[in-house]
Amino acid sequence: MMTKFEKELCDLLRARFPYINITTYEEERLINELKRIVTTEELIHTVRNIFIWKLSEGFRNQDGLIQENTFEKLAALNFIRDYTEPAIFILLDFHVFCEKSNGGVDYNIVRVLKDLMPNLKQSMQPKNMIFVSPTFAIPDDLKKDVTVMDFGLPTQEEISEVLDGMIAANCGNNLVVDLTDKQKESLVKAAVGLTLQEAENAFARAMVDNNRLDASDVDLVLKEKSQVIKKNDLLEYIDSEVNINDVGGLENLKKWLIKRDKSWLDSAKRYGLPSPKGVLLTGVPGCGKSLIAKSISSMWHLPLLRFDVSKVFNMYVGNTESNMREAIKMAEAISPCILWIDEIEKGFSGLGNSGDSGTSSRVFGTFLSWMQEKTKPVFVVATANNISTLPSEMMRKGRFDEIFFIDLPTFNERKQIFKVHLTSRLKQQDVIGDFVINDESLNHLANLTEGFGGAELEQIVIMGLFDAFAEDRSITMADFENAVNNTVPLSVTMSEQIMSIRKWANVRAVAATAQDDRLEYKQSEDNNQKPDMPDNGGSNMPDSTDINESRGGRTLDF
Ligand code: ADP
Repeated sequence: MMTKFEKELCDLLRARFPYINITTYEEERLINELKRIVTTEELIHTVRNIFIWKLSEGFRNQDGLIQENTFEKLAALNFIRDYTEPAIFILLDFHVFCEKSNGGVDYNIVRVLKDLMPNLKQSMQPKNMIFVSPTFAIPDDLKKDVTVMDFGLPTQEEISEVLDGMIAANCGNNLVVDLTDKQKESLVKAAVGLTLQEAENAFARAMVDNNRLDASDVDLVLKEKSQVIKKNDLLEYIDSEVNINDVGGLENLKKWLIKRDKSWLDSAKRYGLPSPKGVLLTGVPGCGKSLIAKSISSMWHLPLLRFDVSKVFNMYVGNTESNMREAIKMAEAISPCILWIDEIEKGFSGLGNSGDSGTSSRVFGTFLSWMQEKTKPVFVVATANNISTLPSEMMRKGRFDEIFFIDLPTFNERKQIFKVHLTSRLKQQDVIGDFVINDESLNHLANLTEGFGGAELEQIVIMGLFDAFAEDRSITMADFENAVNNTVPLSVTMSEQIMSIRKWANVRAVAATAQDDRLEYKQSEDNNQKPDMPDNGGSNMPDSTDINESRGGRTLDF
């Protein structure tokens, strides 16, 4: 069976597309692939001659022979025009000639390229030009005439071949290889997502490390891979220790996620299940959206990559469209993985009015069609504080599996959040003193903090502990009560925004909070355990009946 790359390339070549652009750092691997494909009759039908042009030497043919008088760029284009056999012409870094040294487009060369087009399309024998460069840079004037193709990173099989080659070459050379077949496969899998050169470097490091190649080297290779992602300006590798138990409340969302654990595996395919696409988490700031994103990574044992979409648009190098493609390519290469898009609204809001001649819309379109069609197991977790600025296409069915709304924590959730932060901090007996973390103390704290978000509850714990620390004594409930009295929660200053987010979420999103937690909250109110509100600003708080009745998000039972 043909690979996707082989099929796409052969289709374009056979359909006589004159100009093809391929962006890659792996020039050598690409050229070897192109050579193999265009000389294999079963793939291409009409076998082609190959010419490779570079500034340092002009054209060489497939036997390495330099072609006279093709060094100069216009002479090279004339050579292509006059050639009459079936051929592909690979031009390395040619895009630089489309620009003038002082910036701007060199219209001389653009004109010649345009004039060459009919010759390529109508010549007796098929001829195509392939531009290859590490960065994508086609002048706007030529964009409609150039077809852009992606060249994926090496496959597991290609990386495996490199490893086999290295083992064979070094085995007699003091290198001890202690790997079962499964362990070797893990080692190769750890290098998936690297270029061949990077994979070779990672294996070489693992080999020289202690002159042994064994199961422990998987970690070394993974570390090398995280370095590569660190060098990528768009994606950041997050080493997260956050566990699902570190998240208080949000049981509905947790249940949904737990059910989808392992859905990446082949066994899920036996049930005819598709890989999950992703979730959009929206809601009140500071209530655990980022925390959940991080915890999915440890729950599912998958690497977490943070993708800063706003950088796609204002990167100092490269081109916006290729930046987006590059990020997607990288995430797919590392899959299965979690791709966390923090504050997605910042990257994609205000499309269409940026005066950038449609670039933002095109980039957004690239992202959406990828979300819709992706087959690689990249689980997208997008978080948004302000969904009203997001384009509506984002919400359409088929993009995300579900949109969850994370509201201010309910009574019961506040208890759980306090429990998480108190138990993680109160470890030393002299600090704990007589303070006990139990239902009674948690009820009391939850009652005091209606309208507080998760981040604010964490701050209450920290502020209380600071007071005790400053006076060098054990913690008491009064420390936390003081902290509450000195805090104006965000829900006071943002009450209107919160109400409007909820209204939006009621129709479009699913509540992250479980039904039971909502009821319990109401019960506490009905029991007249009305909290003593902080003195300052308490009156502006959205009142509790509003909070109960207008809580955002539909409740589904997963
Ligand atoms: P956002 O919703 O703005 O992404 P974060 O997830 O960054 O909020 O929350 C900030 C901090 O607040 C977290 O690192 C965590 O310490 C605390 N926090 C927020 N929500 C919760 C929660 N549900 N359970 C435990 N801690 C929470």
